[in-house]
Amino acid sequence: MVEIDKSLFGNEFLEMAFDHCIKCSTCKYSYKEFEPCCPSGEKFLFESYWASGRIRTIIGLINGDLEWTEDVLNPIFACTTCGACMDSCNAPHADYIVDMIEALRELAVKHIGPAKNQQFLVSRCEESCNPYGEPNSDNQELKKIYNLSDKAEWVYFIGCTSNYRQQKIRDSTLKFLKKANIDFTLIDEHCCTSPMIRTGQLSIVKDYMNYNAKQIVNTEAKKIITSCAGCYRTLKKDLSRFIGEQEFEIYHIAELIKELLDKKKIKFKSEYNKTVTYHDPCHLGRHMGIYELPREIYKKIPGLNLVEMKRNRNFAWCCGAGGGVKIGFPEWSIEISHERLKEAKEINANVISSTCPFCKTNLNDANINFGFNFEILDLTEIIDQIEIEFLE
Ligand code: SF4
Ligand code: SF4
Repeated sequence: MVEIDKSLFGNEFLEMAFDHCIKCSTCKYSYKEFEPCCPSGEKFLFESYWASGRIRTIIGLINGDLEWTEDVLNPIFACTTCGACMDSCNAPHADYIVDMIEALRELAVKHIGPAKNQQFLVSRCEESCNPYGEPNSDNQELKKIYNLSDKAEWVYFIGCTSNYRQQKIRDSTLKFLKKANIDFTLIDEHCCTSPMIRTGQLSIVKDYMNYNAKQIVNTEAKKIITSCAGCYRTLKKDLSRFIGEQEFEIYHIAELIKELLDKKKIKFKSEYNKTVTYHDPCHLGRHMGIYELPREIYKKIPGLNLVEMKRNRNFAWCCGAGGGVKIGFPEWSIEISHERLKEAKEINANVISSTCPFCKTNLNDANINFGFNFEILDLTEIIDQIEIEFLE
């Protein structure tokens, strides 16, 4: 057997590919339930599209059994990085499978280049600081509308999808924060860099993170709140990896709502008489371990009937938008959401709700494309529709 010099990898996550995977294929199905859990493997039905195959691809590329050709690009990038494989695998490397896939992508970008269309994530950012290529909002106008000062205890980090595509989520969050009397402000944001990290394109990541961190420090805020699961994961988990520990704490808006409910500072007053199912965003659920907290909020809304889809919590079926799949494989991306909508139909939900603007976008695109008539609403949008009593 050839001895591999692990120092050649240059990435601790790639090293793990050599140590533990026993090819048991458990990562193809949700553990115990035996339901398919990997959107990529289920679509392409070839070993290299499941986590176990991607681990073999890493080994082959590093030890020279495989060559860097265009043929390896598709299996490397056709993965939503949903992390369902991590929750099914019980080997010691399980928690790092997505890190391994992202490290593989970083290598692929260096050797061949990004997957189709994913280069636009970076080029649009270079033009306007967001991956949608929209003119950059410095958020000064919003600060005027909501009467926000330059210094505050909290910063609401809006995120690109909420600021440029799902503004109702942004506005619902802003209104809630104001009504709850939270001392917060906004900054001139650059993209949090989640799309770049997920697609292995790291050229602007540190600069953008440093820029955002500097803007936050200027406000003197010690707490950051976001309404986006992708921003949350990136700020809470990736930021320190790239630019070191920061002095501020990161919260998702759901965490603040739950805290205010627990401290009896808010009370939901009016009824929301609809049957709602909660779609766990991969970046809040499997990536950050938050499953029950949003559910506890829905359960506190009078009249709301919360029902669960067949695959839920750590075995939730991904919406299909993440990991660069929305831009790189747009048709397949909404096919993945189609699966999710079918599950919601089985349990007669009227509303599919989530805590991520990117999930909302993709579920909504599939809702329209496949002729379903669900209401797709973020938690913050439901909260915005009900009467809340704010107590001292
Ligand atoms: S990644 Fe984990 S679950 Fe998948 S084949 Fe390897 S050891 Fe088994
Ligand atoms: S991250 Fe999701 S799509 Fe990618 S291999 Fe794992 S289960 Fe499949």
